[in-house]
Amino acid sequence: MKITDIEVIHLRVPPLDQPCEWGEDALIVKVITDTGLVGIGESDTSPVVAKAVIEAPGSNLYCYGLKSLLIGENPLEIQKLWDKMYWSSNYLGRRGAGIHAISAIDIALWDIASQYYQVPIYMLLGGKYRDKIRAYGTFIPADTPGENKIIARKLKEQGFTSLKFGGGILGDDDTTDYEIVKAVREELGAEFELQIDLASKWHTYGRALGMFKRLDEFNLNWIEEPVLADDMRGYAKLSGVSGAKLAGGESLTTRYEFKDFLKYAQPDIVQPDITRCGGISEMRKIYDLSSMYGTKLVPHGFSTGILLAATVQFLAATNDGDLMEYSQTTSPLFTSLVNNLIPFDNGFVTVPDCIGLGVELNEDLIEKYKID
Ligand code: MG
Repeated sequence: MKITDIEVIHLRVPPLDQPCEWGEDALIVKVITDTGLVGIGESDTSPVVAKAVIEAPGSNLYCYGLKSLLIGENPLEIQKLWDKMYWSSNYLGRRGAGIHAISAIDIALWDIASQYYQVPIYMLLGGKYRDKIRAYGTFIPADTPGENKIIARKLKEQGFTSLKFGGGILGDDDTTDYEIVKAVREELGAEFELQIDLASKWHTYGRALGMFKRLDEFNLNWIEEPVLADDMRGYAKLSGVSGAKLAGGESLTTRYEFKDFLKYAQPDIVQPDITRCGGISEMRKIYDLSSMYGTKLVPHGFSTGILLAATVQFLAATNDGDLMEYSQTTSPLFTSLVNNLIPFDNGFVTVPDCIGLGVELNEDLIEKYKID
């Protein structure tokens, strides 16, 4: 079996000259083989940049576009191809968008391997630890405490036993943050599992420390990305200052960045995104590293049903992968790109015993939102 082509698809809901929030654009890849088997992957990144990383012609020893490296290769040699992509793109890649693009292709290669061997991806990864995975709901907060109470109430009624909010206005003003957390906590009850995500918007250690202490009365499960992941000293000083666990890492890529983050930032929870960190192959290595540091891995996931399917297959094959994120975005790229989106059902998602990722793409929707 040989790879004959890689198709890169950029999807976008708002027009290119208008702002695009989370979940409203996507980068999909199809790795095509001479046997008719096709693998699907995605990356939650800047589609224009990742597309260029894949399609660029080779220009020197370490500046190859990924597609030129893979044509003619055997897609079953997943680790060998990962290494080839990493090394031969390392001037333009190594981290960031270079690894995001590798992630999309790696996921597609696992999809092909599962179809070729006719066993689920979780089986290729070593076996299935669980039939269902608890899912927490993530919502972007509205501007007033009252509106957020209503959102939280509706999600609890849908069956969520764990919720997170972040983005929007969270992190803009300390007193507003306090009032929103207070309102949501009152609505959900004292023991409901609740976490918040600052998207690094507290900026400094000093401000974050004040907020960790101020919010301690609300029994938060975790506080995510209080400051930028590059401020590992700030993270380390925040570790253990309140009852809330310290979480972060969605912007990090590769085992190398996570090794430093685990060692120096001392988080309680790491949150690699399978479509950014290096794909299923690299996620396994990051999981193993996290285990060695006694740190829980709870993946970031806020794009399409392709990410969701890859994340579920990965988590099913880990000893400790019992919690995942379930987006509450209304973007059609989340709700409708994949016809058979893995559903949230009464607190959990069920692990599909499918061959490959098992995603059926909505080709009409792809035609509608495709950017050439
Ligand atoms: Mg986050």
